[in-house]
Amino acid sequence: MTPHVLVVGAGLTGLATARHLRAAGHEVTVVDALPEAGGVMQSVVRDGWLVERGPNSCMLTPEMAAMIDAVGLTPALVRANPAGQVRYIVRDGRPVPVPSSPPAFLTSPLFAFAGKLRLLREPFIGRRQGAGDESIADFVRRRLGTEVLDWAIDPFVSGVYAGDPETLSVGHAFPRLVALEREHGSLIRGAIALARRRGAARATQAASGQRGAMISFRDGMQSLPRAMAASLGPRVQCDTRLVALAPRGGDGVRAVLERRGTRADVDADAVVLTVPAHALRTIELPSAAGAAVRRLETLRYPAVSSLALGFTREQVAHPLDGFGCLVPGRERRDVLGILFSSALFPGRAPAGHVLLTCFIGGMRRPDLGMAPTSLLLDRVLPELTALLGVQGDPVFVEHTTWPHAIPQYELGHDHMIEAATAIEGAVPGLVVDGQFRRGVSVGDCVAAGATLAGRVGEMLAGRAGTGGGAVPLTSGRRSAV
Ligand SMILES: Cc1cc2nc3c(=O)[nH]c(=O)nc-3n(C[C@H](O)[C@H](O)[C@H](O)COP(=O)(O)OP(=O)(O)OC[C@H]3O[C@@H](n4cnc5c(N)ncnc54)[C@H](O)[C@@H]3O)c2cc1C
Repeated sequence: MTPHVLVVGAGLTGLATARHLRAAGHEVTVVDALPEAGGVMQSVVRDGWLVERGPNSCMLTPEMAAMIDAVGLTPALVRANPAGQVRYIVRDGRPVPVPSSPPAFLTSPLFAFAGKLRLLREPFIGRRQGAGDESIADFVRRRLGTEVLDWAIDPFVSGVYAGDPETLSVGHAFPRLVALEREHGSLIRGAIALARRRGAARATQAASGQRGAMISFRDGMQSLPRAMAASLGPRVQCDTRLVALAPRGGDGVRAVLERRGTRADVDADAVVLTVPAHALRTIELPSAAGAAVRRLETLRYPAVSSLALGFTREQVAHPLDGFGCLVPGRERRDVLGILFSSALFPGRAPAGHVLLTCFIGGMRRPDLGMAPTSLLLDRVLPELTALLGVQGDPVFVEHTTWPHAIPQYELGHDHMIEAATAIEGAVPGLVVDGQFRRGVSVGDCVAAGATLAGRVGEMLAGRAGTGGGAVPLTSGRRSAV
């Protein structure tokens, strides 16, 4: 009998997992509590504006390119305006372009002279002695110096994780940095070696149109999960919440699903949970999983507000000739960063207008992440005036609050992974994996699909010949979904 796999979560991770499971010949059902597929990937069109509530863009990695092609979305792909290569970081109250070449670095006002000298010492600093977790801040101070931490890495960490470099684990949050030190003894030497290797790879990528560019889609980022869900057809069931899981006699898992107030038991050969760690507490699990669920509840997902503001072009003095601007903690401002959304991709604002997307909250200001629109406007508008020369009130406002935005891979994150493994041990046939284990970017989530499907495949192969097939999810007597 073809194994049936229940995937919980129709965000990017769940959808990518389901597509890989299908390709490997498994029957699959994807359920999500929300009315539509996409998870945090939500695009809103209103009054001629196109706003991203969640991710605004992503890198065109080879896995992304393959997925986009497979679901027929290549014609809708839009690449970021080349001017988007320029990124600004605020120093002393004004946006400064991030230097993009060694000569530009030497003359850039972003780093003080002493900080530049300190950076140049990096190739001569030995590898870390001793093992164990290290924070991003300690790693960067040790290798690159405080100046680079404060004016480059701290804002970058805000931009990716809305996180705090003092508490994030470098090994988990930026494993490639640790690998560069391990393999090359220096980040600078490692970066040069990588750049040489990429130079060769780039020719091949350019030929296949797969350069590592920033991309979105004509109708917004949600186009991707929509197309992935459409490719899976009725196998994706929204408005359907997993409420309980238990081992089933023999092999397999029994799940309780709730749809519009009606509950139904369904059996599956395997279940993959791609839900955020904090959502596990809402699912009834065997008591043996209790301690691990409580541990995962402590994995922090700080609140973030995304405030999309529209202005007439004349209201904004800044040329908006870049990706956006990030604000280091040392600047003591409320806004974490501002994306120049309408400068990056076409069709984001009506003619003669510009769209700026501001992020507020995160680990730096979790209180502001949940603040009401009026308070945020009071805080953010004066900062936009100071940083970008914005005059007057916005003509368009779309505010999204994410109470649990991005998982923080903090020091001790190994214990979170151990907890997920312990939950899997309590329910044979269960995989608890995804964004809090495999990386937080859109590209990471798409790439995780193959890994998760591979884990399921190995699990089912290990069980082959031991008998017992589960009741198919969609035809089982007990299934009402
Ligand atoms: C504000 C914001 C901005 C971001 N910006 C970027 C960016 O610009 N670039 C980038 O690369 N990445 C960005 N990211 C990160 C990236 O978007 C996410 O990491 C990724 O989309 C997560 O996908 P996922 O499928 O793992 O999780 P989710 O999208 O969270 O999906 C999980 C799904 O599980 C469902 N679920 C939960 N519990 C249950 C249950 N009991 N039963 C059924 N379903 C359940 C939820 O409804 C949800 O749909 C951003 C994230 C946020 C929040």
